[in-house]
Amino acid sequence: MHLTHSSAQSLQGRGTLGRMAAVERNINVHRTVSPADALQRLIDGNRSYAADVAPEAMHAHAVKRRHLIAEQRPFATVLGCSDSRVPIEIVFNQSLGDLFVIRVAGNILNDHVVGSVEYAIETFGCSLVMVLGHSNCGAVTAAVDAVVNRRTAASRIATIIDAIRPNVERVQGRDDLLEAAIEENVRSVTAALQQAQPIVTAARAEGRLAVVGAEYHLSTGIVSTLCGDLVD
Ligand SMILES: [Zn+2]
Repeated sequence: MHLTHSSAQSLQGRGTLGRMAAVERNINVHRTVSPADALQRLIDGNRSYAADVAPEAMHAHAVKRRHLIAEQRPFATVLGCSDSRVPIEIVFNQSLGDLFVIRVAGNILNDHVVGSVEYAIETFGCSLVMVLGHSNCGAVTAAVDAVVNRRTAASRIATIIDAIRPNVERVQGRDDLLEAAIEENVRSVTAALQQAQPIVTAARAEGRLAVVGAEYHLSTGIVSTLCGDLVD
């Protein structure tokens, strides 16, 4: 079990050795986390991060590194953007071995991304996949620019723009076009992942996987859920 905020608080004052011993006892039991518990763990971690109150997990790197040499058991998979302002483990207050992270500009899907998600489900039994967009996303901004101003992007950057473009076009005309496009991009990617056959669809049908879409807000540090299995 990952250290919860309350258990982290209870460790305060025991000193480094006591804290590390507690961390050792709590390592590597992510095996039976339900989809709902996995989502709650991410949300709790994010609230601790946003409130700047729970850096406790970060003290245990050396201990965790030693325990994770032979295997990993991340409890959730997160597909996020490459944006340097949204480092996934940090914004969820998670540590080594906790999250299977896939990052690509615009948090878009391609076969490699879906394959990575499938690998996490099959190999680690991840019970939650979160698609995480964020405010002021440069990739979505470029796609909005391409749609509104008919700009073209250089080289393979265009392939990222092309992946996001339909999600911009669906909300074209909205006053808050960038924010609407960011949300629509998360909704579209989440819906597509939910339908990815056969591994994702089978795991969802058996109730051992949830796919959720969310957005990280740069100004507050808060992750808010938008759509998906535990949200709709
Ligand atoms: Zn971005």
